[in-house]
Amino acid sequence: MIARILLATLIAITAVLAPLPMTGESSDVSAQQFAPGPEAVYFSPTGHYLEGDFLEFWWKYGGMPVFGYPVSPEFEQDGMTVQYFERAVLEYHPDNPQEWQILLRRLGAEARTDELRQHPAFAPHQKAEPGLFFPETEHNLRFGFRDHWEKNGGIRIFGYPLSEEFNQDGLTVQFFERAIFEFHADNPPEWRILQPLIGSQAAREDGVDRSPQEWDEETPEYHPNLWRQPPPRVVYLTFDDGPHPTWTPQILDILAQYDADATFFVLGELARMNPGLIQRMQREGHSIANHSYNHPSMAGMSFSQFQWQVQATENAVRNAGGQMAPCLRPPYGAMDGNTRSFAAALGYNIVLWDVDPQDWRQPGANVIADRVVNNTRNGSVVLLHDGGANRAQTVTALRSIMQRLDSQGYVFQAMCQ
Ligand SMILES: [Zn+2]
Repeated sequence: MIARILLATLIAITAVLAPLPMTGESSDVSAQQFAPGPEAVYFSPTGHYLEGDFLEFWWKYGGMPVFGYPVSPEFEQDGMTVQYFERAVLEYHPDNPQEWQILLRRLGAEARTDELRQHPAFAPHQKAEPGLFFPETEHNLRFGFRDHWEKNGGIRIFGYPLSEEFNQDGLTVQFFERAIFEFHADNPPEWRILQPLIGSQAAREDGVDRSPQEWDEETPEYHPNLWRQPPPRVVYLTFDDGPHPTWTPQILDILAQYDADATFFVLGELARMNPGLIQRMQREGHSIANHSYNHPSMAGMSFSQFQWQVQATENAVRNAGGQMAPCLRPPYGAMDGNTRSFAAALGYNIVLWDVDPQDWRQPGANVIADRVVNNTRNGSVVLLHDGGANRAQTVTALRSIMQRLDSQGYVFQAMCQ
């Protein structure tokens, strides 16, 4: 109980420093999108509370199918705050960077017996197609297990695969650093891939006190419907430097396939040259936002220069039949002490980004896609380009980005509407 109060205090302190501990790098929009629900929930089946950051983590990364019920309270172990669940053990590492403060113990790695170590599935393997290959451990991650791994938090939650898929006790299983996946063909779809009860097992082996806690009636009890589906995660795709007659239509086609909305930070002079694309963006529900008239650095500009860049672009969009959203992204993200107040005086918010795959350097479509998918969190603003140079790589990457983020449950929304 004392540990719970200590952690609650810690969370309160963290909350003052950073209002969104789990999504700290995202824009304000995510504050509404990511309401974590009650601060604490009591799980009567096991008699334990789940609260604060652990509750948010549990819920965000898959809830019951991934972690199961809590089987212990939060308590101090080896200098860390920990809590045991049926399928995992959560550890709080205050010294880690924010995103990595809550970790799963390496139960998957611990669960490898000497006998298993000899199993051929654990020996290094070659890359198999299709699939994700991890040179770090020389193992593949494929098909349904890959989807489960990606959808529920990937490397941060489960760690690297330590084996290939193999058969054990009539189930298909795969070992990861922090988990084991099992495929149960007979379960309902949501419950086909499970992690075995290695958290419960660890609690027994570690001699953890699992006796039920008393229920404070002020705290809501766990109800399955309350946590059935985590809310959709949102990502904001943004495209700069267009509209371009070759690349923009291809990007619009891909967005349309996913019924996705995006934000185009357009240049006034290109809007003037491509009115049909402005009309199409408008018709298809995207936001059209301001990226200046001809892409100068706006740092060091006088107000009248700044105003001309912004308003000439507004006019170009309006004359093309579009509606300008009240957001401005200065070229190169270049700003000085006046930029925000100049923008505000013209009715604009400044919008930058938090995921930048550097697609303009053309590092290869796979690299662009991986950088976006690996760094996207709920509420992320992703910077891509539909103009300025050859954007074939961006177009190819976008297909993969959308397929993968869609399979992780992300919805694609436009900003500044
Ligand atoms: Zn630009």
